[in-house]
Amino acid sequence: MFSLARTAQARAAGSSRAKAHPLLIRTVHSQNLPPSLSKILSERHSKYRQQTTSPETQAEKNNDDAAAVAASQPSYRPQQRRILAKQAAAQAQQATQQTSASRSWPKLEIPRGARRFTFTDASPTSSSVRGTVTVAWTDQFLFVEDPATQDGRRTLKPATIRDSCSCPRCRDPSSGQKTFSSVEIPVDIGLEHVKPTKKGLEITFLRDIPRFSDHDDKKHIMLLPWESIDLSLKRKTMEDVTLPRQRSILRRTGVTYWDRHILPQHIRHIDYAAFMRPDNNPNDPNPAFWDAIVDLCRLGIVFLRNVPRDPSSIEHITSRIANLKETFYGRTFDVRAKPDAENVAYTNGFLGLHQDLLYLDPPPMIQALHCMESSRAGGESLFSDGERVGRLLWPYASRHRLAPLAEHHVPYQYAKHGFHYFSSRRVLEGNAAGFTNVFWSPPFQGRYMSPVKDIRSWIKPAQVFSELINHPDAVYEHKMEPGDCVLFDNLRVLHGRNAFDNASASAGGERWLRGAYIAAEDFLSRAAHIPKGLAEKYRGEVPWTPGLAQQELRESAWHGDVVRRLKEIDPGIDE
Ligand SMILES: [Zn+2]
Repeated sequence: MFSLARTAQARAAGSSRAKAHPLLIRTVHSQNLPPSLSKILSERHSKYRQQTTSPETQAEKNNDDAAAVAASQPSYRPQQRRILAKQAAAQAQQATQQTSASRSWPKLEIPRGARRFTFTDASPTSSSVRGTVTVAWTDQFLFVEDPATQDGRRTLKPATIRDSCSCPRCRDPSSGQKTFSSVEIPVDIGLEHVKPTKKGLEITFLRDIPRFSDHDDKKHIMLLPWESIDLSLKRKTMEDVTLPRQRSILRRTGVTYWDRHILPQHIRHIDYAAFMRPDNNPNDPNPAFWDAIVDLCRLGIVFLRNVPRDPSSIEHITSRIANLKETFYGRTFDVRAKPDAENVAYTNGFLGLHQDLLYLDPPPMIQALHCMESSRAGGESLFSDGERVGRLLWPYASRHRLAPLAEHHVPYQYAKHGFHYFSSRRVLEGNAAGFTNVFWSPPFQGRYMSPVKDIRSWIKPAQVFSELINHPDAVYEHKMEPGDCVLFDNLRVLHGRNAFDNASASAGGERWLRGAYIAAEDFLSRAAHIPKGLAEKYRGEVPWTPGLAQQELRESAWHGDVVRRLKEIDPGIDE
């Protein structure tokens, strides 16, 4: 959001700069050129304008613009500007939402002649809180109405309904894929009849897709499930539907933020053989496996123990969850000290807290590390809850002096051995709905190719972030023993390692971990299937929401320490 505001500002500045070239504009207008030539010239002119706002020069311009604005507005303060930009963006977003909402859902009155019925699902087995629905239809509209709420009416269109048909003729029963294309639907398709059933509304169409309506032996009937009607009437939100979205899954599992004192109360060491056992069937899930998945969601970390000392164990563990994310390090990788290491992890030095592969887009979510050997002194694994710190800082990220944490793009790069990856990320990332991600990986930062940026204003708040995640109370330390495997969420939990003794290498001692990754989409696809009951077991009564998380952290014992540190940078902060 911040960067958007800044881009818009730069764009506006660019066009005002173009206006500041009166000579060029006058030349075009004074010569009375034929229309085609004047078009070419004006195109060239706009090309020139584009060039003046190319990204390379934008950084310098931002400085100039800021100076110009400051000179023209004596009361100017950067923070004010930021607040104004934020408000404008919020208003613009609201406007878009209103437009698109009114386009989808005009509040039409139900015409007098419309056929209608009221349906109440009174079956004792129904788990639904649905209540009564009034349904009416004409040739062109399906009206659904919640008699219990004001304004609770939605108008659904036959073409959109028809497009979602999931009957065995419209979706292949084994692949679930559509057997027709949306463009086959006649735009004048209409409703013939609507009938309530326990599962939903049975609908037949007028002017259906010809190859469906021409079937004379069997009429095409569609089922519009009650869930779609509940969603249309906003009796359910999309978050009540388990989509493979992290937010929907965390809503069920809850999230426990931790430090070194809290994690030991929750962390589990699940037996490898129990974890690997397959689910007998969906009604008889393997709790050991699903406990590990639940822990990865709510804590971001779980251990397995008694893992066989076999180089392929890591592949067995990760592929039990989902397909692996292969990277340029290979399908799996070995973490052991070696000469001319291609990664700082493959040395015996201290490795500060970081996330892996931030130069990939997106970086992998789940990382698994299986300990094959650890006979050397030292080399303890370190873990810290980066999201906890990110969320604690987020409410202050709009303050002028802390904003660089959420605005400054840190470059991440790997450019060696014939590979070249690059991405840039802010320490705290979010959107209009709030905090989304934390990104921190000092050893893997890239270079500022053109060092025109001034990172001084970023360094101070970044120091606070670094102090918070590295604080001895924040870091959970665990010495991995052979047979241990740790799985953690690389997008939430930062990891590192203490230095270890290299001298015993000649005596046969080794520290050897084998690792593999799983991408977010593959992990979430699996986690969306956490069996009911197992998901909610540790959550408590209330579904998790980001808003609750922010509130919980604000009331936590950590909050005071965070504010105290921030006040050293920005004394105006109130608790
Ligand atoms: Zn169908």
